[in-house]
Amino acid sequence: MGIRDALLDAWALLMPVECAGCGEPDRALCPSCSGQLVPHTATRSTPHGLPVVTALRYEDVVRRVILALKEQNRTDAAAPLAAAFSAAVQRAAHPHPGAELVPVPTSRAAYRRRGYDPVAMLLRGAGRRPARVLRVVRRTSAQKTLGVSQRAANLRGALAARGRLEGRVFVLVDDILTTGATLDEAARALREAGGTVVGAATLAFTPRLFAFRDNALAQDYGGAKGVNDGPPPTGRAEPHRAAPRGLGGLRGNYGQRAEPGGHGSIP
Ligand SMILES: [Zn+2]
Repeated sequence: MGIRDALLDAWALLMPVECAGCGEPDRALCPSCSGQLVPHTATRSTPHGLPVVTALRYEDVVRRVILALKEQNRTDAAAPLAAAFSAAVQRAAHPHPGAELVPVPTSRAAYRRRGYDPVAMLLRGAGRRPARVLRVVRRTSAQKTLGVSQRAANLRGALAARGRLEGRVFVLVDDILTTGATLDEAARALREAGGTVVGAATLAFTPRLFAFRDNALAQDYGGAKGVNDGPPPTGRAEPHRAAPRGLGGLRGNYGQRAEPGGHGSIP
């Protein structure tokens, strides 16, 4: 057992936590859920044709761990996700050695609410430095309920570069690829300032939303077998799963949840 494991175990005794993926009382992430975070990189594309390397499918354990990081202050989930993120970033940036990595900026409100920036944490975990050359200049409506073209319209002009960017080459980075509209807006802002945008990398992509125009098959599933990005899972429309151990159970007061058949808080 390494020192790191020993420390984690000691910490788990002092401060019991639940696995961010399944809710089992354990350290940050149980071995079974860790196994679900193995990256399978594939290149997709935004509506405007920007290539995006993604590492994970945003569903099940992956989705719960990412939500734990983004919405439940489980910053301990950043390290296990960073390895997958690193694989996507590396693949997107590899053909462009001088490229700078630009996180899609989050609103100040989101930052204040969380007190941290999940994408920046992922980048740090991947040993990369962010180039903070974009800023939010216009607030947008919540994207979740909007369709693809509505998202694009909602976002247009939302981002701007902090200065002129001539001669600089960029790879955009973000946590989740949904429709790609946000990345397109970020690329537009960088290019408008004279920058060159060669691609993007995201930790995960949403298979259901993306299925209808996924062009990954042709491009670059290749080589790596074990890319298990098959057809989208059973096309149930509801965005959230209603499993008893789903989000609802995990949100907020983990550590003191007492659900039927569940585990109490402190052993
Ligand atoms: Zn687990």
